[in-house]
Amino acid sequence: MNKCSVCGHERNDRDIKCPECGSFYSKITQIIAEQEALEEMQTFRGRCKRIINSDDVKQALLAELKRMKAELTKQGMFALFVIFVFVFALVVSVL
Ligand SMILES: [Zn+2]
Repeated sequence: MNKCSVCGHERNDRDIKCPECGSFYSKITQIIAEQEALEEMQTFRGRCKRIINSDDVKQALLAELKRMKAELTKQGMFALFVIFVFVFALVVSVL
């Protein structure tokens, strides 16, 4: 049986990560896992999951909103502007 190169814990061949010290057995699986975690973090589902799982939901929600605001690109601003104009035009045409 193989052993973890970091802590020497006996490794299971199916495991990608050492259960003892948390280090990855191969560089590729580490990159994939990190990528998945990153993608999960950026999805709406990931955000919701993190907020729900958090100890302080209100605080987590505020932190997420802050992060979303920071991530808002020029393109996002433009999309919001278009939506705003569309709604405004709709309201004006109704009046
Ligand atoms: Zn280990």
